[in-house]
Amino acid sequence: MNNPLYYELFGVHVGKKTPFLIRPDGTIITYEKFLQVGTQFAHTLTDLGVSSGDRLLVHVEKSPEVLALYAACIQTGIVFVPLNPAYTIDELSYFIVDSQPSLVVCDARNLHLISPLAVARGFKLETLNEDGRGSLAEKGHNKPHDFPTVSRAKDDLATILYTSGTTGRPKGAMLTQENLLSNGRVLRDLWQFDTSDALLHALPIFHSHGLFVATNVSLLAGGSMILLPGFDTSEIIRLIPQSTVMMGVPTFYTRLLNSPGFTRDLTKEMRLFVSGSAPLLAETHVQFERRTGHRILERYGLTETSMNTSNPYEGERRPGTVGFPLPGIEVKITDPTSGKPIPAGEIGQIEVRGPNVCKGYWQKPTKTTAEFRPDGFFITGDLGKFDSQGYIHIEGRNKDLIISGGFNIYPKEIELLLDGQPSVLESTVIGVPHDDFGEAVVGLIVPSNEVNPDVDQIRSVMSTSLARYKLPKKILIVDELPRNTMGKVQKNLLRDKFRNLFQNN
Ligand code: AMP
Repeated sequence: MNNPLYYELFGVHVGKKTPFLIRPDGTIITYEKFLQVGTQFAHTLTDLGVSSGDRLLVHVEKSPEVLALYAACIQTGIVFVPLNPAYTIDELSYFIVDSQPSLVVCDARNLHLISPLAVARGFKLETLNEDGRGSLAEKGHNKPHDFPTVSRAKDDLATILYTSGTTGRPKGAMLTQENLLSNGRVLRDLWQFDTSDALLHALPIFHSHGLFVATNVSLLAGGSMILLPGFDTSEIIRLIPQSTVMMGVPTFYTRLLNSPGFTRDLTKEMRLFVSGSAPLLAETHVQFERRTGHRILERYGLTETSMNTSNPYEGERRPGTVGFPLPGIEVKITDPTSGKPIPAGEIGQIEVRGPNVCKGYWQKPTKTTAEFRPDGFFITGDLGKFDSQGYIHIEGRNKDLIISGGFNIYPKEIELLLDGQPSVLESTVIGVPHDDFGEAVVGLIVPSNEVNPDVDQIRSVMSTSLARYKLPKKILIVDELPRNTMGKVQKNLLRDKFRNLFQNN
């Protein structure tokens, strides 16, 4: 068999009676049982006529069976394409047209909506529900417990993972066997995962964080995962004492800190808390350590690259930074116009090269050419800088850069000042159209519970540390910031909402 990804993630565990998945009610699914379901799916997919290189689109809720379907795809060479189950049917049609799947697996409640599409576009349709039942599972019940693994080369596609598409339509990142395997191995070793680890898994599994970082790393280490349907503070608090690691987005950690039940004693058996997918406020890092004694380990990655950088496991985990490039991965900061490297301390665009970087965008050669340099560096679209000790700081997305009166303004600098105000719980800064300046800086703040924000006073405090052109022309008070499922603030929605703020200025 020549399918290293299958072998290292799954094949090595054949027959093991140790737990792989633990349901919230404590039911254990051993590696042996999990892999039996996986091979039964592999038979079912093959019998349905789906084969190596075909795409399988998955639009279902999180369940152990979805992970077994992932295993089946890796084993058969079928390209696994997971989608957010929150996507509507209209959104789903875009992914169907783009990825041209041979098979779509959906929740039974959406069957009547997707069936006409299946007829029109000629793909097969099966169901898999949150409880693990459905037509796909039924077809698999009597299939054998072993399957001849299909050979795949390093450069063959394992999955297509769609970007979240906050600007423009989502693009399918083509991730190869080598991309997933190299990244998983590096993270397992760096974060010292082993068979004794039990990962508390509350992330979605249609995204890089929950699927590749959490799941692949656990599989490569032979550890277990407590698989929750989603994040629920009281469930996390109940299950933390049975876990050793948690991976989360920053909102998980702020929610836990808001709960008095989240204590130092509760986390005493934990060995690691990892954060990523959105910026973790330095303040959250500090508060978390004060409360629990643990220093959250922040890392940085993207759909297209999986993980690129991480704070050290052993050394200093520095708040407000995403640490160092991972072993084998090159990170450089360049001038957005010339593409030339710029000195430490200066903000530029982040570019990445390594075995983790995807092959390009599915069916989008022009986008691939635009975002990859001829020498293999991928232009992440993020802005950042190296500090004097080599830690990388993320300064926001390139497209969130505000150009006002000809000056470049990095929202992060202003957000940090706003966040530092006692009356502010959190903030975001956007640029909106302005006749005179091109764009005007607008701050949006969510009040903290303690004090009522006095916007004029905040502006006057900020004016002592910010050049005049960076000062928000307006600061608006909002109840909350719109976030996507991974906790990222959706600045595009805010820019749309406030685009006419200065219309008649
Ligand atoms: P996604 O493709 O959905 O994983 O989103 C990737 C984007 O999330 C990156 O381009 C960054 O803008 C952002 N991101 C991921 N991790 C971090 C982090 N630790 N700090 C700040 N931004 C992050």
